[in-house]
Amino acid sequence: MMLKTPNEIDIVRAKSSKITEVDFENLSFGNIFTDHMLVCDFKNGKWEKPIIKPYEPFLIDPSAKVFHYGQAIFEGMKAYKDNQDDVWLFRPDENFHRFNKSASRMAMPEVPEDIFIGGLKTIVDLERDWVKKGLGNTLYLRPFMIAIGSGVIAQPSTQYRFMIILSPARSYYQGEVKVIIAEHYSRAANGGIGAAKAAGNYSAQFYPQKLAQEKGFQQIIWTDDATHTKLEEAGTMNVFFRINDTIITAPVSERILDGVTRKSLIALAKREGINIEERDVLVNEIVKAAKDGSLKEIFGAGTAAVVSPIVGFQYQEHYYELPKLENSLAMHLKEEITKIQYKLADDTFGWTVKI
Ligand SMILES: *Cc1c(COP(=O)(O)O)cnc(C)c1O
Repeated sequence: MMLKTPNEIDIVRAKSSKITEVDFENLSFGNIFTDHMLVCDFKNGKWEKPIIKPYEPFLIDPSAKVFHYGQAIFEGMKAYKDNQDDVWLFRPDENFHRFNKSASRMAMPEVPEDIFIGGLKTIVDLERDWVKKGLGNTLYLRPFMIAIGSGVIAQPSTQYRFMIILSPARSYYQGEVKVIIAEHYSRAANGGIGAAKAAGNYSAQFYPQKLAQEKGFQQIIWTDDATHTKLEEAGTMNVFFRINDTIITAPVSERILDGVTRKSLIALAKREGINIEERDVLVNEIVKAAKDGSLKEIFGAGTAAVVSPIVGFQYQEHYYELPKLENSLAMHLKEEITKIQYKLADDTFGWTVKI
């Protein structure tokens, strides 16, 4: 992919780097940020000049719309370093387009490509020492936009702030993930904002997720809001089921986020001749498959965890355990996508973009 070079991004460098204080072997996800952040404000109907400056807190008015009406969206992506010390992004155009789709849905202005992609490229280049070599080491990139216009009148803001912050991350093993199928709560509804990466989708999940955790489940498998009969996402990941040798996953919809990991795994599976179906996944068919032993795997897919195998699920007070497989398709697909991300395999799809 061709990247537009950012024509104008001011850079104010941090006086010193925090990097020497960071224990890269023991990172907990998303708590440490690099030396710089990108800030770009939208005012008077247009985007101002972006600036990269030292990472620091900032002031906004207590009446800013983001605090009261939740106009806030984000993206989650990663940078990877290969064995030659080159730094790569993975399908950044997908995140860029999804970000602007989210922006439109939340009545926020779209961010131009030179600010989003150009900004990412510039700040990742500046922070390239924070991207460590070796499988599993990444720099997690968090572009986001908030409504900073003041005034508690319930209407869209006229002022916005687009930012990019970066956090070194190691791929993590979450322990055993047991899930519970949602029978009452919903993550998204038709006509709602489920397909947008909006902050509010996350806060709406926290309470049901807390209830699930109290019962001993790490995550919820969300079902369709109208009937609770179709399986749609696992927590904040897309979800895949393997029945015998066929993988199935729900089609993207107004209720399901169009995940970059999801679409990449589908493409990889197709390339390898693995049977993969994008269609409604019924709770009943998964329960039946669990009972007759044809259900082999369930796994979540998303940028943060890449692929997250699920060991069992609870439905209507009954717990169904999945078989422990030596050669799971989840782990195989994870390996394939990881090899492309770290430039250890040919990127025949043209997904990787060099910084
Ligand atoms: C971000 C997200 C995903 C995963 O998307 P990726 O692009 O693969 O990171 C899946 N579901 C929801 C609800 C999400 O917010």
